[in-house]
Amino acid sequence: MVNHMTGELLLMIPGPTIVPSRVVRAMSAPILPHRGKVFSEMYMQQIERLKKVFRTSNDVFILCGSGTAAMEAGLANVVGEGEKVLCLVNGKFSERFKEIADNFRAKAIVLEFEWGKAIDPIKVREAFLEHPDIKAVTMVFNETSTGVRNPVKEIGEIVKNTNAIFIVDTISALAGDEFDTDGWNVDICAAGSQKCFAMPPGLAFISVSKKAWKAIDSTDSITYYLNLKQYKDDKAHAPYTPPVSLIYGLKESLDIIEEEGLEKRNERHRRLATIVRKEAKSMGLEIFPASEEVCSATVTALKVPDGIDPAAIRKTMLDTYGIVIAGGQAHLKKSIIRIGHMGIVGEKEIYATLECLKKTLDALRK
Ligand SMILES: *Cc1c(COP(=O)(O)O)cnc(C)c1O
Repeated sequence: MVNHMTGELLLMIPGPTIVPSRVVRAMSAPILPHRGKVFSEMYMQQIERLKKVFRTSNDVFILCGSGTAAMEAGLANVVGEGEKVLCLVNGKFSERFKEIADNFRAKAIVLEFEWGKAIDPIKVREAFLEHPDIKAVTMVFNETSTGVRNPVKEIGEIVKNTNAIFIVDTISALAGDEFDTDGWNVDICAAGSQKCFAMPPGLAFISVSKKAWKAIDSTDSITYYLNLKQYKDDKAHAPYTPPVSLIYGLKESLDIIEEEGLEKRNERHRRLATIVRKEAKSMGLEIFPASEEVCSATVTALKVPDGIDPAAIRKTMLDTYGIVIAGGQAHLKKSIIRIGHMGIVGEKEIYATLECLKKTLDALRK
């Protein structure tokens, strides 16, 4: 049996991901007073560096919470009770936006697409003709539940010519796949620390465009902790005590990202995704997404052969090899497995995972 507490586990799930020891060490520095000059300057620097990763000149804020905090902040600040939100849904995480909209008593208009297929811009255009008063559009760039990469750029071209605010979750892709917040006309973009940033869980990042601020300023939001107006008022400090140690970790993570170079980092993720698909196919596995073109660069969903239970695959991988991979969510629980290849992983971890997966499948077929 693998000892789970001694760092022997190889995390090949779509978050949380392996955290480099450099980041862990950076987080052990003494706690600075969060309103003091030294911390404040460091904090603002990290926000400027985050903007480069987002590729935006919009405001960026760091929230204390997992990625979902940024999703909730995005939607809850922009949309008031009874207002229409167009939710583009093709997986578990895009569904979450609909649930958040329901919670805040907004009127969710759901455009459903088959899980495993990408979102179709034509349907989005039609929805605007039918509902010209849509206040916001939500979508997920990299749908982690299905391994599908959605056409944010194309949808952004449509939404930019309307009054609607374009809210995109890029939590499982930012700093691992090409994403252009400003170039793709994304008004509000949500990201998180524990995926491609290779940090521990606990930070969420959010960008806010001028167009989004107009909507936020005219919305009577009922949020308190996640009220973005509070964050705008004093940009040198977070409105509430930030997780100081995680900010040290973020600085180190951004150092690593800059050392590698964002484009090279994205390329590495794409290359790993290609290896996973190629090797998986060579061992007789089918990819779950409808086509190679829509496959994610950071997580690969694979169909499990008939007669084999994904839970058994995951158990053998964990107990025998100490490798953690993910299963499917919702109705895909019994039919797919997912391999995360995000953050700092390289070919060593990828080939080890695939080789052990092959041995696992062979053992389960016997
Ligand atoms: C991981 C993830 C989230 C956020 O989940 P948290 O548990 O709140 O961090 C949201 N959307 C996508 C696409 C994700 O992959």
